[in-house]
Amino acid sequence: MKKHNFYAGPSILSQYTIEKTAEAIHDFAGMGLSILEVSHRSKQFQAVMDEAQALVKELLEIPEGYEVVFLGGGASLQFCMVPFNLLATKAAYLDTGTWANKAIKEAKLFGEVDVVASSKADNYTYIPKNYQVPDDVDYFHITTNNTIYGTEMRYDPDVKVRLVADMSSDIFSRPIDVSKYDLIYAGAQKNLAPAGVTLVIVRTDALGKVERTIPTMLNYRTHIEKGSMFNTPPVLPIFSALQTLRYYKEMGGVKAMEKLDLEKAAILYDAIDNSRMFVGTTAVEDRSIMNVCFVMKPEYKELEAEFISFADARGIVGIKGHRSVGGFRASLYNALPKESVEVLVQAMKDFEAQH
Ligand SMILES: *Cc1c(COP(=O)(O)O)cnc(C)c1O
Repeated sequence: MKKHNFYAGPSILSQYTIEKTAEAIHDFAGMGLSILEVSHRSKQFQAVMDEAQALVKELLEIPEGYEVVFLGGGASLQFCMVPFNLLATKAAYLDTGTWANKAIKEAKLFGEVDVVASSKADNYTYIPKNYQVPDDVDYFHITTNNTIYGTEMRYDPDVKVRLVADMSSDIFSRPIDVSKYDLIYAGAQKNLAPAGVTLVIVRTDALGKVERTIPTMLNYRTHIEKGSMFNTPPVLPIFSALQTLRYYKEMGGVKAMEKLDLEKAAILYDAIDNSRMFVGTTAVEDRSIMNVCFVMKPEYKELEAEFISFADARGIVGIKGHRSVGGFRASLYNALPKESVEVLVQAMKDFEAQH
C-alpha cells in the first residue's frame, strides 16, 4: 500500500518525479545508459542542467542579474557560505528557530551579527514583528519557513536592506519578490528533489564585496562561472529536481501550488481548531502551510503515542512531532495530495470519537 507521507524531510516527492527518475535510472535520454553512470559533461546532462536552471528562473520569475546554481553540502553549508561571501562587516538575522540559530552561529565566524529579534523564549511559537533592522548591515537573513516549529513568513519583508533567505522548506509554495533578495537558498529534500543538492539563487552584483580570501569551492563565483559544473554536481538529484520543476509548471506554476497548499493547510487547521482533543502549538497568524504542528490537550496527553499507531494502521506515516515541540507534525509539502490530508483528518475525528 502506498503510504500517506507526512515526513518533514526527506519527504514526499511527486509521483511524476519518482516515475521519471526510475525510468532514467534504467535508461537516461535514450542513451542506453543509466543516469547513475553518465558523465555530467555529456550533452544530455548539460541539457538537464540548462533546463532546470531556466525553469527555476521561469517559475519564480527571477529578474535579470541573478544566477541559479546547484551545489552540494545541503542548506547547512549555506549557513557559512552566505557570510563567507556576503558579510563584510555586519549582518542582521531574525531568530525564528533551530535552523535560523545555526545560520547565526556560522555568521558570527565572519563578522558582527545583530540578532534583531528572537522568539526563542517562547519556544519559537511565533514570528517576531516590529523589529528594527539597522541600515548599515550587509544583509538581513530570514528563515521563511521554520520546519521544526511550524511557523512561516509568507511574505518578503519590507526593510531598507537586502534580504537573504533560507527557503529550504517552502520554496515553490508561493510567488516571491526575488528582487528584494541578494540570495535565496534551499536544500532540495523538502519541495524539490532527493537530498544531495542545494538550490541557490544569487544576485551577481552582491558578490565581490568582501575582502577576505574565499576558498574556491566556497566561492559562489566559481560555481556561477562554471555553470554549476566546477566539479561533479549531484547528477541524480538535479535530474529529479528538473522533473519536479516540470511538474510544477504543468500544474500551473507556484501560484497554483500556493492555492493547493492553502487548501490543504486549511483542511487540517480547521480540524485542529474544531477538535476537543488536539490543539495547535503556534500563533494563528504565523502558522505554516508546509509543516503543521499540534499536540493533544493536557487531559489527553497520554494518548499521543496511541494516536500515532492508530494513524499508522491507516497508512499515515511521519506525523510524530520533532523532539523540541513534541506531539505531532504533519508536513504538507507541494507533492502531498489533498486526499492524504483528508485521510489524516478523518483519522483524527475517528480517534476522538473513540475516546
Ligand atoms: C531541512 C532544513 C535545513 C537543513 O538542510 P540540510 O540540507 O540538511 O543542510 C535548513 N533549513 C531549513 C529551513 C530546513 O528545513
